[in-house]
Amino acid sequence: AGAPRRDPLDGLNPAQRDAVLHVDGPALVLAGAGSGKTRVLTTRIARLVEHHGVDPSQILAVTFTNKAAGEMRERIARLLGYAPVGMWVGTFHAIGARMLRAHAHSVGRTPSFTIYDEDDTTGAIKRLLERHGVSPKDTSPKSVASAISDAKNQLVPASEYDGLAKDPFAKTVSLVFKDLEPAMRQANAVSFDDLLILPVQILRENAHVLEQYRKRFRYILVDEYQDTNRAQFEFVRLLGGESGNVMVVGDEDQSVYGWRGADIRNILDFTKTWPDAKVVRLEENYRSTPNVLELANVVIVENKERLGKTLRATRAPGERVSLVGALDDRDEADYVIEEISTRRATEHRLLRDFAILYRTNAQSRSLEEALRKRGFPYRLVGAVRFYDRREIRDLMAYLKLVANPADNEAFRRVVNVPKRGIGDTSVDMLAGIAERERVPLLEAARRPDVVSSLRPAARTALAEFIALVDRLRASAAEASVDELLRDLVAALKYGDHLKAEGPDWKDRELNVQSLIDGAAETVADEGGEVGLTPLDHFLQKATLVAGVDALDANADAVTLMTMHNAKGLEFPVVFITGLEDGLFPLARAYDEPAQLEEERRLFYVGITRAEEKLVLTHAEQRLRNGERMQSRPSGFLDGIPDGLVERRMTMKARSSGRAFLSDFGGGRRGGGRDAGSRWGGGRRERAWDDTDEQTSSWTDRAASRRPGAPVSFPAGGARRSTP
Ligand code: ATP
Ligand code: MG
Repeated sequence: AGAPRRDPLDGLNPAQRDAVLHVDGPALVLAGAGSGKTRVLTTRIARLVEHHGVDPSQILAVTFTNKAAGEMRERIARLLGYAPVGMWVGTFHAIGARMLRAHAHSVGRTPSFTIYDEDDTTGAIKRLLERHGVSPKDTSPKSVASAISDAKNQLVPASEYDGLAKDPFAKTVSLVFKDLEPAMRQANAVSFDDLLILPVQILRENAHVLEQYRKRFRYILVDEYQDTNRAQFEFVRLLGGESGNVMVVGDEDQSVYGWRGADIRNILDFTKTWPDAKVVRLEENYRSTPNVLELANVVIVENKERLGKTLRATRAPGERVSLVGALDDRDEADYVIEEISTRRATEHRLLRDFAILYRTNAQSRSLEEALRKRGFPYRLVGAVRFYDRREIRDLMAYLKLVANPADNEAFRRVVNVPKRGIGDTSVDMLAGIAERERVPLLEAARRPDVVSSLRPAARTALAEFIALVDRLRASAAEASVDELLRDLVAALKYGDHLKAEGPDWKDRELNVQSLIDGAAETVADEGGEVGLTPLDHFLQKATLVAGVDALDANADAVTLMTMHNAKGLEFPVVFITGLEDGLFPLARAYDEPAQLEEERRLFYVGITRAEEKLVLTHAEQRLRNGERMQSRPSGFLDGIPDGLVERRMTMKARSSGRAFLSDFGGGRRGGGRDAGSRWGGGRRERAWDDTDEQTSSWTDRAASRRPGAPVSFPAGGARRSTP
């Protein structure tokens, strides 16, 4: 309120306007990073509501992360001047879950179904393997789970998979795949993947439901379209119908979820599905300085699988990109934090202006340590998720069982937590009966014959456990979730249990407290059709949202996350750490040109998060899985022309006088050694076990190139391992 709102069209370039003003019919916006794709989506939504009388509830907007969904909601509210009540904005999973709650019965669930996380699903698969007499030692439940997940995301049903299964592993997968859906039904549960494929199934099989949603969602908008998989494509296609009021925006250079089934074909198939789709290209980048952008272009141009596009800088030049060599991961972390400290003081920046990105979550540890030493608050996005901690998982499992008494994974998790003398033998016996009688474990546990065959101590304990669950169940309809949790914690004497478990009980108790606080803040879903209980709502949110994400989004803190998680975001100052062979790109990428290209796209995503300053760092040594490993600078750095980056060393690295570092400083650049020798002679799988003699070979291909000469990619094959 207060200041008059500006016209959202103000300041848009002609191509952006063109996309925003598009009203009916399909549209595809293909454009590079920072060109305003997301802005086009939000502005268009606001226009549809303001100028075309579209009710917010007729709009479905899909984003890639919960955080992005929240930001989109906020941006739209700011443009409109009020909150868009009834609009569905969320990730595919959240939207799928919502739809599924409304039609749970048509896929054999009740609206209180549990969403199994990856561990739960793997647990269920493990038990199916056991049922078929397959030992988890021979066939890892995880690998089976991921094979099934791949199939599901490509919409290959169990029946079809069976026909395709040729080798023994695939045959085992097929056995389990067939049993999985009935088992999940019985547990009144769905997996993450089911949140996509069950809604697709419902829409395909129920013409009236499809019709109902097509009528409701007159406009569909999808951000980060390049990362959709087959199931998601089908979902959009079905809802879009013939009219195809679908606008998707994406950038094929930022497709980084191939490993999860994202399919670049979806972009090409969009115009096949809707041949009259309007195609818009945005060619101006508003986010980054030209220095950052040029680096991004130099990097991505090495990929072959591209549609190709133009991206012009619009901002003033700004600082050069820095490339910094450190001694080890601690030195690297200290450098980054020191740099943040300096820039914060001299450039008057807030901590939230800084993001530190990395390839793998494990890298956050040394960075977190350095931040803590400095007393800088930080936000860790999506790493060890809050909800993955043991104490949180335990309490959540109790809540899941309260919400859904058929949740067998939850039952197994907590029936003996805290220890009450109900061991594996007792649970196995229960499982046998549950299986035979086709009832959930909790039901089996109530049977008199079961009870009488237990030892008296176990019998009492089981009765108490059941009574507790029943009591909480009775109060769940009325009580708020934080009340339930408090009740639960008191009944279990959970604090004592934590103290008995180990010295870190204080931290864990704080976690429990913040779970309770978080529960108190959960408000009912606005516009929810199904009348979820507060408990159902809380559980769904907890399962779909990365825990840390939800806490404290506006605090002034440094952001730490993987490049995958950074998609769509922007920060004035960005650090990309760990640019070392075998880490980024990951070692396995060298075996597969397609994977190497995906890693490079990820690098492109990382670079293009930076608005004003980008710092790339690598370390000569890194602690990995408890071992010190030697490493060389990433092959991604090879193609970077000299003038584009400013090369530096950390103080420690400079004073150590290491060979690679003097090379690095520019001493022997390009002299004698060619790129081939660097990669030559049977490159090993892991860059981590390389010897000292190889670490001194910082050869910079770019150095032998004349300034201004086009950047080319010498012999793609040379960088792959030759066994
Ligand atoms: P990504 O591919 O990384 O998701 P994007 O294409 O979605 O990027 P946006 O996040 O929408 O890009 O926009 C990048 C930045 O540029 C934002 O800060 C946005 O507000 C700004 N921006 C977009 N269009 C304009 C414009 N016409 N004038 C000024 N700033 C703009
Ligand atoms: Mg975007």
